[in-house]
Amino acid sequence: MSDDQRAVLERIRFTDAGLVPAIIQQWDTREVLMMGWMDAEAFRRTMTEGRVTFWSRSRQEYWRKGDTSGHVQFVKSAALDCDGDTLLVTVDQIGAACHTGTRTCFDADQLDPVVGDGAADTDEMRADL
Ligand SMILES: [Zn+2]
Repeated sequence: MSDDQRAVLERIRFTDAGLVPAIIQQWDTREVLMMGWMDAEAFRRTMTEGRVTFWSRSRQEYWRKGDTSGHVQFVKSAALDCDGDTLLVTVDQIGAACHTGTRTCFDADQLDPVVGDGAADTDEMRADL
């Protein structure tokens, strides 16, 4: 790894299990594709090999995305969030990011939240002032 990459590694605040969540985003469309876990070695491989590598908590092994599925993730950029506990990796995703075959892990099950309009001036909210 380069000195810059090593400096980033030192800033990562891994969980007690030695892992950090990595959000994977398509670099051009900005689709949020998936989330996976990395340990320091998976991070090192991702930063130096041009392909995304995760740590599988269920199988307790490294997996490089696409090696079995062909759904490769080519690394475009990486960033650490403000408090160092989440990675954002932008990629060029080949095919489906999700193992179920959908483009992103967030395609299938749309939830139904109350959608705010951003105006923050409903009667109910005024009553709180
Ligand atoms: Zn998925």
